Amino acid sequence: MTQRTQIRIESIVQGVGFRPFVYREAAACGLTGWVLNDSQGVLIEAEGPPEQLADFLDRLQQRLPPLATITSLQQQEVSPKGDQDFTIRHSQEQSDSSAQIAPDTYVCDDCLQELFDPGDARYRYPFINCTNCGPRYSIVTGIPYDRPKTTMAVFPMCPNCQAEYDDPTSRRFHAQPNACPRCGPQLQLLNADGTPHISDTPMETAISLLQQGGILAIKGLGGYHLAVDAGNDAALAELRRRKARDEKPFALMSRNLEQVRQYAKTSPEEERLLSSTERPIVLLEQQDQHGISPLVAPRNRYFGVMLPYTPLHYLLLEQHFTALVMTSGNLTDEPIAYQNDDACERLKGIADFYLSHNREIFTRTDDSIVRVMAGQPMLLRRSRGYVPRSIALPAAQDNILALGAELKNTFCMTRQDRAFMSHHVGDLKNLDVYRSFEQGIMHLQEILSWQPHCIAHDLHPDYFSSLYALEQEVLPTVAVQHHHAHLVSCMAEHGETEPCLGMIFDGIGYGVDGHIWGGEFLLGDSQKCERLGHFAYLPMPGGDAATRQPWRMAISLLTQVYGDELPGLPLLAAIPSQDLKLLRQMIDKGINSPLTSSCG
Ligand SMILES: [Zn+2]
Ligand SMILES: [Zn+2]
Repeated sequence: MTQRTQIRIESIVQGVGFRPFVYREAAACGLTGWVLNDSQGVLIEAEGPPEQLADFLDRLQQRLPPLATITSLQQQEVSPKGDQDFTIRHSQEQSDSSAQIAPDTYVCDDCLQELFDPGDARYRYPFINCTNCGPRYSIVTGIPYDRPKTTMAVFPMCPNCQAEYDDPTSRRFHAQPNACPRCGPQLQLLNADGTPHISDTPMETAISLLQQGGILAIKGLGGYHLAVDAGNDAALAELRRRKARDEKPFALMSRNLEQVRQYAKTSPEEERLLSSTERPIVLLEQQDQHGISPLVAPRNRYFGVMLPYTPLHYLLLEQHFTALVMTSGNLTDEPIAYQNDDACERLKGIADFYLSHNREIFTRTDDSIVRVMAGQPMLLRRSRGYVPRSIALPAAQDNILALGAELKNTFCMTRQDRAFMSHHVGDLKNLDVYRSFEQGIMHLQEILSWQPHCIAHDLHPDYFSSLYALEQEVLPTVAVQHHHAHLVSCMAEHGETEPCLGMIFDGIGYGVDGHIWGGEFLLGDSQKCERLGHFAYLPMPGGDAATRQPWRMAISLLTQVYGDELPGLPLLAAIPSQDLKLLRQMIDKGINSPLTSSCG
């Protein structure tokens, strides 16, 4: 007896080798039919004896390719059609997409092996990739996920690459960024002024420039890094001077875990995160003795460390450097540079050389940052490697565009029981960042084929994200109190729906009473919340100025405790008496001194 089953799979399945996987499993089960990608995910029709079909369904769920995750699988019986074989059909355009583009992923072990195999056609080719690895989200310009809708569209494949691309048994079957030295992107070394630096071997030249203490801007997956040898004090001092970044720690990148263990303490969980396909920066406690320059993370017990995630990184670190500083390519508070011309303009005066290439980055994504706390990973910044993978919500939602706050902005789109968080956008007060916020919203809407029915924004009326919401006149908007949003995000992350008590220790957020909240005890759920308690209000003399000059808060606190008679503290001696007098008058009379319960 022959049966035919139609299977609809929703998941991150585009660009992760799912169709060839389905093809191989169908062939192994002796089935006929077809598989195709459409903008809703993957559609399969398979025909054969019932027990073989059952076996096939099992295999689909048990033997997924490394980057694939299934979020839903539905099947229904249809009438047999008597196909001759099993085929992979071309992508179908369709509206109402729920397909998900995969995040950018570290270079896989198979590709790494080829990268260092002198007999391989892609030996030492910095753009090697396959269906299991390589750039995804950062190069996607639209859907469905296919080469013409990526920044690889400008590189026609050579006959060899095309043959792999067309061969369902190849690891590069429909690998959209597939390329080789003959047909794909090329490295280029540029001088500080953006002119080409003549070199037949840009990688080797770049390595020797780093060894000599040079500061290089290096193009990665989601943007440029600024790189220096992490053991070179002089190079680091110069980088700090040029980047105007006094003490903020720089991230490090090392070849492998053995190298990392030389300078940082690692637990099994931290090592798992370092080696994960997402390759985040992991915060690690420093070894007591290490060969890393003290200028990497001054007055800090931690290093932010990541393992290489592109073939280019592996080539850079192959033989030299215990660690390279790989800090984001920007001036303090500016967004990371990601386009070639823009990088040369914005990093002028910082980078001595640029190790660049001609594969464009469409969406800028910063490195993600994770810290292990109480044995559990905690994402401090969820961006490259994770975005645009969705997060499961405890209950289905309407289509909500949630715009986030103003500093360290991310935005979010909900569809049914999934939340799609954006990449790390940054500080919206910066015009470049604000533009990328607007573009990011448009782009994510497009690749999700999604339209909002409602916009949620921060209660603070002056945040740029709130202003953006209020400009979208046709849609209903909802203002959400900052710490209520923190409470409910935390609940969603842990699948809680019943009312919870949230203790929120935050910087600042606009409160419903018009004061600045931050140390809050809230009881509530996604619908409402009650403020059970909060840290005592303190005047914040000078408003925002007090965040930049914390001594103002110290005076405020001392005044609250001691009243008019402040004790003789060294701090007070360091402040000009006129300033001190003025500040105390501001506090007394409540001039430009909003009240805050912030935790600083
Ligand atoms: Zn690969
Ligand atoms: Zn090629």
